[in-house]
Amino acid sequence: MKSFSRDKKLLIAGPCSAETEEQVMQTGLRLKATGHVDLYRAGIWKPRTRPDSFEGVGADGLPWMTTMRDATGLPLTVEVAKASHVELCLKHSIDVLWIGARTTVNPFAVQEIADSLQGVEIPVMVKNPINPDFALWLGGIERLEKAGIKEIAAIHRGFSNLSETYYRNRPQWQLALKFHAERPDIPIICDPSHMGGRRDVLLELSQKAMNLAYDGLMIESHINPDEAWSDARQQITPETYGELIDALIIREDHEDDQPLQIELDELRERIDQIDDELLHLLHNRMSVAREIGAYKKQHNITILQKKRWAQILGRYLDQAEDRKLSKEFMENYLAAIHDESIDQQQRVIN
Ligand code: PEP
Ligand code: MN
Repeated sequence: MKSFSRDKKLLIAGPCSAETEEQVMQTGLRLKATGHVDLYRAGIWKPRTRPDSFEGVGADGLPWMTTMRDATGLPLTVEVAKASHVELCLKHSIDVLWIGARTTVNPFAVQEIADSLQGVEIPVMVKNPINPDFALWLGGIERLEKAGIKEIAAIHRGFSNLSETYYRNRPQWQLALKFHAERPDIPIICDPSHMGGRRDVLLELSQKAMNLAYDGLMIESHINPDEAWSDARQQITPETYGELIDALIIREDHEDDQPLQIELDELRERIDQIDDELLHLLHNRMSVAREIGAYKKQHNITILQKKRWAQILGRYLDQAEDRKLSKEFMENYLAAIHDESIDQQQRVIN
């Protein structure tokens, strides 16, 4: 693979990690059979958030990949995080490199990679950094461009959350769209696997990416997903991958009505995100309420503390107006939370 074509969606699939020679080969053969793979991915060096998890098979995995390429004709892409990775990949004629989310955050690391690519002709994909920092993503791409890399694509894999949310990583589609607006010359690929973090949301995320006119998808696929050494929850078999791609509706970008829809989607995503956070906070609030219930039981205190309730009401009703909320809504909202809190304490006490 020498360049990123934009005439057709670029479909990238393969395991999160190369684990064994057999797994690399079997995944490749079965993915090839779907007829829906343009580029085979596998992690050789795995940047893991915490130590003592599987950190990749290392350079031993590269010949497994090239043997698989010989058998299937599928070009290869591998994640690189430093100059020595680049050197080994070039030695094995890996077709495309990608920079992972945990590397894009670090300008020193990206610069080291860019320097090691001076004068080399190879396509490179840059994942968004794990934090929603648009300039950092763009900066990574610019470093590669300055090093003379001509074929560059961006991969949107979502952004880390403080609290647990519906998707493993927050999509923040508006950042990817901002990227597209700023650099329409750079293809943008969606990685629903890392974005969603679980199998059941891959189709909805992939379809969304197609609706937003993304240039391709990168999806993790494993011959035995539940037994995968990394990212087991989000991997799917090659056959399921084939069905997912078959099920996608590839839309033409009707330029005139798209911006309208995109803006609405953007706002809805923000609402969903806030609702996720509210739910998480409510869950936390109720677990504190249950602790209070246990304390009241131990000390034989009544559940309803009238003074305390009056205090809560006063404190928030006063703020309602400043927060552009009606007093009536504020009262209903506080009463609903208070009722549930009393019920939860009741259950602890009885
Ligand atoms: C991966 O692609 O397996 C990976 C580590 O992804 P990310 O850098 O997006 O977390
Ligand atoms: Mn992964």
